[in-house]
Amino acid sequence: MELSFILNELGEERENYFNAVSPPIIQSSNFTFKTVTAIRQAMANEFETNLYSRGQNPTLNILRKKLAALDGAEDALVFSSGIGAISVPLLSILKSGDHIVAVENPYSWVRKLFNEFLPKFGITTTFIDGTDFNNFENAVTPQTRLIYLESPNTFSYELQDIKKVAGFARSHSILTMIDNSYCSPLYQQPHLMGIDLVAQSATKYIGGHSDVVAGVLTGSKALIKQIFDHEFMNLGPSVSPHSAWLLLRGLRTLPLRLQRSFESTRVITQWLNKQDGIQQVIWPFSDDFKQAQLAHEQMQGCGGLFSFTLKDSSFNRIEAFCNSLQHILLAVSWGGHESLILPSTASITENDYVVTDERHQLIRMYIGLEDPQYLISDIEQALGKI
Ligand SMILES: *Cc1c(COP(=O)(O)O)cnc(C)c1O
Repeated sequence: MELSFILNELGEERENYFNAVSPPIIQSSNFTFKTVTAIRQAMANEFETNLYSRGQNPTLNILRKKLAALDGAEDALVFSSGIGAISVPLLSILKSGDHIVAVENPYSWVRKLFNEFLPKFGITTTFIDGTDFNNFENAVTPQTRLIYLESPNTFSYELQDIKKVAGFARSHSILTMIDNSYCSPLYQQPHLMGIDLVAQSATKYIGGHSDVVAGVLTGSKALIKQIFDHEFMNLGPSVSPHSAWLLLRGLRTLPLRLQRSFESTRVITQWLNKQDGIQQVIWPFSDDFKQAQLAHEQMQGCGGLFSFTLKDSSFNRIEAFCNSLQHILLAVSWGGHESLILPSTASITENDYVVTDERHQLIRMYIGLEDPQYLISDIEQALGKI
């Protein structure tokens, strides 16, 4: 299916709403039926019927069709957060006694989910360095039900060989799930590489304007329906029709925004690499990136998130640099119009800081839609101040 068709037409039945170009926000919790027979049929198939907006809703339905098509998947579910699009399906596919093999540096709340939440239900996780395929083979046990990937991750950008891991998992009847937030469906298509479930935080690129929190999960219709019929409807993580509409609006400009962020990030990382005060820049499409070849094999483009370290990485210098930026904002999240900075030191105290620990030294930057020269000037003046 062509990208332009997906983003501009798919799922939009304009004759049903006054031929409006922009779909309406159907801000209704419930839907009415003429006969008991009709409502009985609807109640028997909430997955595909507008009955009650905890499940299905017409505005949401347009979004689901587009998101499934973007991922090359049969169906999609939309959640009230990205972490919901990860935790709810895990509760659906796992049971007590099951084992997960997961990459060692996933998104922070996913790590917490594996370390603290899932053990309450008798589900255990082995974390591995996913850059080496052998580690997957060595970590799998007869109890392993799921392999969990995030490629690249969003602080240190390690990749996994997605096709190889998916093939291995399939031959052992192990399900695979990936957090594809970094690339979005435009720059990486995990379903085509054999992954079963693809999650992403729609708060980031899909929304794109830092004004909505949401998540997406795509997969086979059978898996998505299983998750919908049970955990999704029981735990209630649905998005509001208004949030669904904001995500639809974000989708219209997704290719333009991603391309801008990608191109500006190339310019800025190349500039940073030449600065005296910079030790290293980590971005999957940099020539000196450790897994550059794999990145170019399985990614069609690169996100606007990267990390770098200062030559003199004292706690105070890192903080002075971040505090000196005047236009690049100090904030969590990413994927919006605005450029952001977040040092690793934001999650630790000075006493816990280990100057030789590269992960502690990392400063993460997200490049938004501003003119790259405007951002370079800001970084330059901040480097000048330290
Ligand atoms: C933000 C983020 C999440 C969580 O998404 P929320 O929408 O904040 O719940 C998951 N994975 C990655 C890589 C993220 O950046």
